Amino acid sequence: MSDNRVVQGRMVTGRKLAELIEDDSVMETEAIQDADRDCPDCGGNVLEVGYMPSVTEFVTGWKCQDCDWSETDRD
Ligand SMILES: [Zn+2]
Repeated sequence: MSDNRVVQGRMVTGRKLAELIEDDSVMETEAIQDADRDCPDCGGNVLEVGYMPSVTEFVTGWKCQDCDWSETDRD
């Protein structure tokens, strides 16, 4: 199973997806998974990725494949 997915027309890795969600660089990322939810803005497919923005923090982030919507479990 490939860890690369198309997000807003671009092929992204788990790291790139996490950086899009975080709007910053990240240290570690897990594999991309399909979230069991639809985008609240456009109804598109939502991807989930766990990542570490720093050594002391683990964040789960979600990002729509079709629009700018994203969210983290910090919210
Ligand atoms: Zn969307």
